[in-house]
Amino acid sequence: MTKRTSRRLLALLLCALTLSGCTAKRETASPPPAGAGILPAASAEETPDPAHKTTGIGFYFDTVVYLTLWGAPESLVQEVWDECARYEQLLSKTVEGSDVSRINQSGGETITVDPETWEILHRAKEISQLTGGAFSITLAPVTALWSFTGMETNTVPTDETRLAALELVDDTQLVLGENYTVTLPAGMQIDLGGIAKGYIADKVAALIRDKAYAGIISLGGNVYTVGVKPDGSRFGVGITNPDEPRSSKAVIYTEGCTVVTSGTYERGFNFGGVRYHHILDPKTGWPAQSDLLSATFVMDSSMTADALATACIVLGSEKSLQLAASQGLDAMFILKDGSVLLTDGFEEKYNYLPQ
Ligand code: AMP
Ligand code: MG
Repeated sequence: MTKRTSRRLLALLLCALTLSGCTAKRETASPPPAGAGILPAASAEETPDPAHKTTGIGFYFDTVVYLTLWGAPESLVQEVWDECARYEQLLSKTVEGSDVSRINQSGGETITVDPETWEILHRAKEISQLTGGAFSITLAPVTALWSFTGMETNTVPTDETRLAALELVDDTQLVLGENYTVTLPAGMQIDLGGIAKGYIADKVAALIRDKAYAGIISLGGNVYTVGVKPDGSRFGVGITNPDEPRSSKAVIYTEGCTVVTSGTYERGFNFGGVRYHHILDPKTGWPAQSDLLSATFVMDSSMTADALATACIVLGSEKSLQLAASQGLDAMFILKDGSVLLTDGFEEKYNYLPQ
């Protein structure tokens, strides 16, 4: 999608939000008012009042980003957008000259990347190993065959192209060397779409936390709550109902942690009477066919949660529960039959409230 098309999409989304209110999977307070472009919606002077609320909406990584801050100066909103823009320039596979583009165009040569890119690649490889390849950033040649943006003609790849692209999927082939060097065999491609937003959410949360403000960033499926509300209570985060994505299946109450959801409802298209969604199984190259509609992790690292949530859609409920338990993580899974699975202690820890 071109930048111009993206901006047009943002304008449409902002109109839609004005008309319809806000979708779930973000803080349950009233939605930020809409406008055009990337803006702080409330105009506030530098203010020390901890109850003062400032909101903004941005658009990065083809994703609408919501920011709500308490007690913070308006300049922090701009600081957050500057960070998001910087990461987009570094990590987007569609930005010419980004680290990801440079890796994809390296033709097998070793190149040096930004330490932050290297850190994400390192974690991505660890999670690929942990999930038996269900999470694979080298899936890019396969994702390139599909279009889930809704902006282009949707097609289903032929078996021939799909199987040829699958030959290029193997995260162990991505070699990370000393001094932030990266080597990717010629022909292979990477895509950080399943993990980068989590990394950015972590960094934005740190920015808010370091200045001792309270706030919420919602970046696609990645929500990070920092601190507590001015009245001292926890933030409520709605977990999207996959059957009715404008409503919540449940609300949970968190303090200083991230809530990350991957869902098959997020992006997709219908073709020949079949719905195809955007989380692909690296073993088949088809949209994952497990029993899960959504996977949510609640923890401190949004980057890890992002990658794990994507992987769980591929793995299915049984393996996902085992994975969460083995890593001592809190998770919630919504199944195709409408049932919900929670890890031990989840309900009490987050005041789980079904909707
Ligand atoms: P998320 O919304 O975090 O679940 O990430 C979905 C995005 O990650 C997709 O739009 C693709 O760019 C990429 N992706 C899809 N399937 C996988 C997978 N199995 N492993 C890693 N990344 C994936
Ligand atoms: Mg993800």
